[in-house]
Amino acid sequence: MKKILTVLVLLAFIVPSFAQDVEKTEFTAYIGETTVNNQGSYTPDFRFDGTNRKVRNVILLIGDGMGLAAVNAGMYANGGELTITNLHTYGYVRTQSDSDFTTDSAASGTAYATGQKTTNSFLGMNPAKEAIPNIPERLEPLGFACGVVSTDNLNGATPAAFFAHQESRNATAEIWADLPAAHLDFASAGTMGVFEEQSDSTRIAILERYTLVNNLDAVDGAAAPVLFLPPSVALAERGDYLPATTRKAIEYLSKQSKKGFFLMVEGARIDKEEHSNNTYGFVREMLDFDKAVEEAIRFAEKDGHTLVIISADHETGGVALRGGDPDQGFIRTAFASTSHTGITVPLFAFGPQSQQFRCFQENSDVSNKIVEILTGRNPAK
Ligand SMILES: [Zn+2]
Repeated sequence: MKKILTVLVLLAFIVPSFAQDVEKTEFTAYIGETTVNNQGSYTPDFRFDGTNRKVRNVILLIGDGMGLAAVNAGMYANGGELTITNLHTYGYVRTQSDSDFTTDSAASGTAYATGQKTTNSFLGMNPAKEAIPNIPERLEPLGFACGVVSTDNLNGATPAAFFAHQESRNATAEIWADLPAAHLDFASAGTMGVFEEQSDSTRIAILERYTLVNNLDAVDGAAAPVLFLPPSVALAERGDYLPATTRKAIEYLSKQSKKGFFLMVEGARIDKEEHSNNTYGFVREMLDFDKAVEEAIRFAEKDGHTLVIISADHETGGVALRGGDPDQGFIRTAFASTSHTGITVPLFAFGPQSQQFRCFQENSDVSNKIVEILTGRNPAK
């Protein structure tokens, strides 16, 4: 009896404080019809999806912080549809890093880029601080063209994981200095301003290696490798940067190699908006990311030898759906966190061999399967 009383007394304290927390962290956002309801979605032909046809190209799209609730919020705010959720092949991805239950974008980006789990904040290095090969470093010597596109700066953790080898994701100068040695034929992420802040020696080395362009039209006919730095990657200023650059990168990489290509596209700012618990912001970023996915899907559908994989490096914000009205493009959310969480993230796939991703898997497994599908050799085996 005494035990029960103690529990009841404890509960009396716990329940009100929990209720208060919920109230404090609940945010409501109304999404305007004009901005989201008319976007629609694309449904491809599924003829080659999940077949054993040969894969020549892989497009990996990473929604930074894109958990299942973020996908749902985007879907309902867009009238109940997204190109992502029109796809037929799904799986889940565990995101834990070697050092932490809750990963950061550097460790998870490294897992996607190299097929190995590492310490939070490490880029392209294993826990013993040894540089490990990323997908472009494995594929480019075999004749594949490789590229990265992101709405982050090029030194942001996810794009950087595909070319840099640094202990700290914050070592901006060192990450930029790794760019001349990258195995990339096409790179685009913000911004010209950040490039200009780099040291003379870094900028000279980059200009010796890359054709630097500041607008998308200049990419056509530019000698490889090409570096496209937009003036801004902020949503309000970048316009259709992400889908348009994804389309251009696909076109450009297709012309660079007959063997095939690998392209990583990141929607970086879903995460950033979730960190500030901004529902309107992350939903807008989700919808922009979905337009980039559509570009990849349309190409893959026509090509028939392209595998598209869409997933996330981790969940951010502990997003929950508290209510919604798809007809009005309305969604009400709540956030359990202002930082990353450890829940598994969804994966969507389209094209030949997509069936290999229909399971619970590690982020590092996704990377190793991509390399195996393109080269016949799994780096982890
Ligand atoms: Zn984050």
